[in-house]
Amino acid sequence: MGVFDHPEFDQHESLHFVQDSASGLKSIIAIHSTALGPAAGGCRRWQYASDADALTDALRLSRGMTYKNAIAGLKFGGGKAVILAADATPKSPELFRAFGRAVEGLNGRYVTAEDVGCTVEDMRYVNEVTGYVSGLPQSGDSAGGDPSPMTALGVFLGIQSAVKARLGADSLQGVSVAVQGVGHVGLNLCRLLHDAGAKLTVADVNREHLQQARDELPVTEVAPNELLYSTVDVLAPCALGNILTSVTIPKLRARIVAGAANNQLATPEDGARLIEHDILYAPDYVINAGGIINVAHEYYGDSSEEHVRADVAQIPGRLDEIFAKAEATGQPTNILADAWARRIVASGGSESTVAA
Ligand code: NAD
Repeated sequence: MGVFDHPEFDQHESLHFVQDSASGLKSIIAIHSTALGPAAGGCRRWQYASDADALTDALRLSRGMTYKNAIAGLKFGGGKAVILAADATPKSPELFRAFGRAVEGLNGRYVTAEDVGCTVEDMRYVNEVTGYVSGLPQSGDSAGGDPSPMTALGVFLGIQSAVKARLGADSLQGVSVAVQGVGHVGLNLCRLLHDAGAKLTVADVNREHLQQARDELPVTEVAPNELLYSTVDVLAPCALGNILTSVTIPKLRARIVAGAANNQLATPEDGARLIEHDILYAPDYVINAGGIINVAHEYYGDSSEEHVRADVAQIPGRLDEIFAKAEATGQPTNILADAWARRIVASGGSESTVAA
């Protein structure tokens, strides 16, 4: 497979293939755009079926970060790193230091943070060798730390906005939500939904995560392969991407899809497919921007948790705009969001509404 003719290659500025024999690090850092600032996006550690799958993930996720950061109004471009996990190369401080040296070598063109498979603790090792890292332990009331609670807050507020748009309801009382994956974001989201009176159905492939959700909250548990097809008001994907496809969409029974997972749509055409099945889709990178908003405030060292919350509270307003334009034009929400993000990047950050 070629790189420049890769289907996910979208004028990415640069790609960096990193290997460190001593620690066993194999990583790909994809810089999609630095037009609005340093390319920012987390580091995912995952066991990929092939190197090609890792490259595809890095290319898609980094472009998504450009769009996410643009619509969230951040002074960040888009980038992403993947670390190729393998049984022979477990996590170690040296592995993350080696990754940090690679980030340092990019001289600030890429800013990393934790994503799936990485923790705040791992980022501390990265931070031993580079300052181009965020998502570090929080100090005092300044912004920082694990971004997932802020991601969950944004998704929760976004679900409220989608429920209002599709079901006409001002409250989540009695609204049924199926949450796929009760990890960092999913469990925090379940807590917020429960407090708001929603009825929860959950699934996870990790027994411990599931047990924690069950211990804390009144949840109905279903098998991971059934969760997607639950008859609920809202499906909230909070595990991995590529779950909305030509095969799965016709079988969905939810009226809304609104969750944290990145790259939920397998292809852009799946947005139109969701409309055909009368399902309202909250574009993933719009609704899940809470974490990167937290990361941005921490990185620029300019504010407190209160400011982060105020910025995260702007997410539902952006979704309201997208939903209204989708309703008025019949266009898929993902296509509207992509076009908006591209206009923001092209205008150097000055384009502020979806309406243009
Ligand atoms: P996480 O690893 O803590 O949680 C993911 C959970 O999904 C795990 O419990 C895992 O066991 C479960 N899971 C995996 N495959 C599953 C399946 N087939 N069915 C059911 N459960 C399954 O990750 P996270 O930080 O909570 O992130 C969740 C998603 O949200 C990811 O796609 C991530 O990229 C995205 N996201 C996270 C953040 C953040 O702040 N953490 C920000 C933006 C987007």
